[in-house]
Amino acid sequence: MIKKGHETRLERAYFDVGGILGEDERMQEVSAKGSIHALSLSGLKERLSGLGHPGYRAEQIFKWVYEKRVEDFESMSNLPADLRGTLGDQFSFHASIPVRVLGSEDTTRKYLLKLSDGALIETVLIPANPALYGEASDRMTLCVSTQVGCAYGCKFCASGLDGWSRNLGVDEIVGQVLRAEALSGESVSNLVFMGMGEPLANFANLIGALEILNAPWGVGIGARRMTISTSGLAPQIRMLAEIPLQVRLAISLHGATDEVRQQIMPVNRKYPLASLLDACEYYSQRKKQRITFEYILIEGVNDRREDALALVDVARKVDAKVNCIPYNSVEGLDWKRPREDRQDAFMGILKKGGVTSTIRREKGHDIAAACGQLRRQKMASTEEVAKEV
Ligand code: SF4
Repeated sequence: MIKKGHETRLERAYFDVGGILGEDERMQEVSAKGSIHALSLSGLKERLSGLGHPGYRAEQIFKWVYEKRVEDFESMSNLPADLRGTLGDQFSFHASIPVRVLGSEDTTRKYLLKLSDGALIETVLIPANPALYGEASDRMTLCVSTQVGCAYGCKFCASGLDGWSRNLGVDEIVGQVLRAEALSGESVSNLVFMGMGEPLANFANLIGALEILNAPWGVGIGARRMTISTSGLAPQIRMLAEIPLQVRLAISLHGATDEVRQQIMPVNRKYPLASLLDACEYYSQRKKQRITFEYILIEGVNDRREDALALVDVARKVDAKVNCIPYNSVEGLDWKRPREDRQDAFMGILKKGGVTSTIRREKGHDIAAACGQLRRQKMASTEEVAKEV
């Protein structure tokens, strides 16, 4: 079925995965039926009771689905035959075909997945990252996508270049974790919602997926090990503050004044810095946690001394930590990564200003890790797509 050569660790690996027997048929089935991976435990109980089956069967079913990772109702041997038949008639499983896998020297692995309607998304597995958001070390972090494409058009980002196509369903978000674990043979310990798309623009499905990913009957990843990254949708940040899960929040800030931020992030016109900072303050007070500002350093755009001083001001205002990320070049875009001495000078100002800050010389730089790049490369070569899938 799936070629396993990508597990080669220290060697740059690149290969495509194609022709997975029977997967295409299953994908068509998925689009016709509802996926069981989209349901919460209470949702499944409700459906079962509507179908004349007792609610306790839901726990048994989810044991098969999330503990044993079975994707075939007929294999659920402790369920009565009539229930197995009904489940098969009513539900499918999440489905995605891995069409390309990239592995890098530092073992970051990037999966390009084809969904049931043919849409392509990326999900990236990053091992042994230092703890950037949570308290514990991020042993195996998965960077998850939430939309196909993105409407927000941040100027440095590959995902926004082709615009937005659609939101991912709950099962398609959860399915990335299941697929990455199955392909890598690793268990994911941390999630960052930082892949393709703006997670807070797909709010309902994001919350549905968080519940399943966190629940003991589901994937069982601690909420504090999940980080939602947003370009700055102030109203949804306030909504996220009201959900019971202690998920972490990261803001793609990238500019500490309206003038600079507006140049890079069109969303700033709708939610200017003052309203974004108010929402951040609300989130940290409500959740009693520190948020993180992501700051991509781009030469000549936001890496000057005055930019660093402005960043000190805004970070101190909401007591945020700052993660600086030297820019990853994107094909088709002109921005540049600043020289290391400029990066160091910038970091020095943050430190002097009393801001907790780190610089992340990003893993996966050599495999087009900036979001959306792999998908763009793939889409640019439609002939190749036809050959592989
Ligand atoms: S950085 Fe995030 S919000 Fe901005 S265009 Fe890219 S995917 Fe969308």
